[in-house]
Amino acid sequence: MATAKSENSAMKVASDSTLDVERIRADFPILSMVLHAREDRPGVPLVYLDNAATTQRPRQVIQSIVDTYEQHYANVHRGIHWLSDQSTDLYEEARGKVQAFINAQAREEVIFTHGTTESINLVARGWGDKFVQPGDEILLTEMEHHANIVPWQQLAERSGAVIRFLPITDDGQLALDALDQLLTPRTRLVAVTAISNVLGTINPLEVIVARARAVEALVLVDAAQSVPHQKTDVQALGADFLVFSGHKMLGPTGVGVLYGRRELLDAMSPFMGGGSMIRRVTTAGFEPAELPAKFEAGTPPIVPAIGLGAAIDYLNQIGIDAIHEHEMRLCRRAHEALGSIAGLRFLGPAPEHKSGIVSFTLAGVHAHDIAQLLDRHGIAVRAGHHCAMPLHKRLGINASSRASFYFYNTPAEVEQLARAIDDIKRIFRRK
Ligand code: PMP
Repeated sequence: MATAKSENSAMKVASDSTLDVERIRADFPILSMVLHAREDRPGVPLVYLDNAATTQRPRQVIQSIVDTYEQHYANVHRGIHWLSDQSTDLYEEARGKVQAFINAQAREEVIFTHGTTESINLVARGWGDKFVQPGDEILLTEMEHHANIVPWQQLAERSGAVIRFLPITDDGQLALDALDQLLTPRTRLVAVTAISNVLGTINPLEVIVARARAVEALVLVDAAQSVPHQKTDVQALGADFLVFSGHKMLGPTGVGVLYGRRELLDAMSPFMGGGSMIRRVTTAGFEPAELPAKFEAGTPPIVPAIGLGAAIDYLNQIGIDAIHEHEMRLCRRAHEALGSIAGLRFLGPAPEHKSGIVSFTLAGVHAHDIAQLLDRHGIAVRAGHHCAMPLHKRLGINASSRASFYFYNTPAEVEQLARAIDDIKRIFRRK
């Protein structure tokens, strides 16, 4: 079958939950790349620290994609022909893997989309257009990604709703005290990121869900930066919607997930119309299909979803708790190693409140220069506003540099980053 098999996988978790990272890295062909080699120069090994933008894929995921295209591929219309049954089975098996991974109550509550962005737009359209009235309020936070701001601003334009923002503290945590004032009987939805893609802050979702419940508001969790890195249990959390992307968790691009509580999804209107999402169409109108098909118009991301299933298999075998701990260790290491560099300012809170995302500014050096110079060392980081312009404005900066880790990164890579930044500082001091 197309799903990844683990027998020959290098991943094994030691009982004390430390990871055998060297063996894990052997599963990721791209991580052994050497960059910038020339005839007169050997080149430098890739140090991939841009995992918050997208992660790399292990052979097992790549192989599942190849296997599907080579042996199991057709469109997913069950019962039409043998090959179609095969691909339908694999596609639905992947849905089951997602359901188990986030502990959704029912597989119908897992909708495949093309990514986090589409998932949020789906809710803004399918739920927002139907239920949000003029004067209703939607509460966001100052640390949201544009994907969790713009669809709500568009909804506000269409509906007359009002957008409010929960502020952050100077050290990059949510200012929960402000909830008293910002949550009102008109609040219909709180849309909040689980982990900030810039600050790395791990937000106290339980508090937010409880407070939102008290005013009967729904909660949408942008889990793009959390599902790949820490345990997610949508039932324990009590979230109404939770969204994430496959490509940030070893899966292919072009697939994402919308989890929604069944009664909400049932009440919502389909976001897109077309094939597959209908039970019946006449010249007079249409009747939508049952969940999950109701929200999966057209040919869905068949192979990406199957690849995401293989990625979940891989993550499960490593263990999401071990992944989280490893990244927290790398984050602490980064704070230690970079913290002694004069002029370097960390964005966000202390490491104990953060996941494996470390953003910073360096006095006198633009973030884009840092990224370009780090690239000469083979180090890939992200520079800019990271699709969080309101957050950067709040922090009083235009841009920042971001190193983001995954479980295949090593402490040695973190040290390399620190040494390279020190080098960059020296270059700029000389100028
Ligand atoms: N939300 C957050 C917190 C993100 O980090 C990202 C990706 N940078 C997104 C939303 C958007 O995800 P995608 O581009 O996969 O739709």
